[in-house]
Amino acid sequence: MELRECKKCLLLQSGEEENYKLVQEYIQKIKSADKCPDELYQERLEKCKDCDNLISGVCLKCGCYVEFRAAYRNKKCPDVKRKAW
Ligand code: SF4
Repeated sequence: MELRECKKCLLLQSGEEENYKLVQEYIQKIKSADKCPDELYQERLEKCKDCDNLISGVCLKCGCYVEFRAAYRNKKCPDVKRKAW
């Protein structure tokens, strides 16, 4: 299967439906005390979508799927200069 790199795209925009579903399943398992509030989660993802480090849903700074990383309340953007969130 040919992988398509999509700059500044989250998983679904990149055609990564399977990985999107997996990430959503993992997010469902996060304890509510550890989970980022919905509004803040969306704000974080909007910042990622405006970041040159985002390729096909993956942050090049940490190698995480940003949709998963951002779902944790206490996680931070790993770019120490940008500190987007
Ligand atoms: S560096 Fe920060 S803002 Fe950019 S993709 Fe990674 S987590 Fe998102």
